Amino acid sequence: MTERLFFTHDHLTAELEVLTCTPHEAQFAVTLQSTIFHPQGGGQPCDTGWLGKSQVLRVTQEAGCVVHYVDQPVATGPVIAQIDEQRRTLNSRLHSAGHLIGNVGETLGWMPIKAHHWPGEGKITFIRGEAAQAMEAEAIQRQIDQWIAADYPRHLALEDGSRAVGFGELPAYACGGTHVQALGELGQVTILALSEKKGALSVRYEIT
Ligand SMILES: [Zn+2]
Repeated sequence: MTERLFFTHDHLTAELEVLTCTPHEAQFAVTLQSTIFHPQGGGQPCDTGWLGKSQVLRVTQEAGCVVHYVDQPVATGPVIAQIDEQRRTLNSRLHSAGHLIGNVGETLGWMPIKAHHWPGEGKITFIRGEAAQAMEAEAIQRQIDQWIAADYPRHLALEDGSRAVGFGELPAYACGGTHVQALGELGQVTILALSEKKGALSVRYEIT
């Protein structure tokens, strides 16, 4: 079980402990005592970066363990880890914007069932609740713009290994992703289009 430091902190660099390094196809699979790297999952791409001089190409979650795939072997013991900051920032902004779209949908009586926060593919999918009201791109845009302008701070709550993340007074979601510290960091979030298929409503968005 890898301790996930990113659950409670936003470290971009830290000294970590390498437990194992195993050849895997053309790469090496590395496990750590604890990690600052977010693995791919929960609708969010993985962090990339470095473990010492080894480049971290992808990070996955495999049975409670976070596995870091690197281009050259690392020795067991302490290593300086570094996250690719630009990629982390983009993913955190996209993911946090997804929370806000989920929050707007819920205030209109829709239930978010799926979130995809990849660059160029941002999409939140809802199903209709019993008292669902019409969802319109302009209204979603207005509400999100207001919350971003209010610069609501992030709240993290950890309980029994699960984690809830929310902004300001907005309802929190059980979530393992990375987030901005306050909504002002989001900049411009743009609602692109809404589409409904087989009873599911998708809201596509991007950040600029
Ligand atoms: Zn989240």
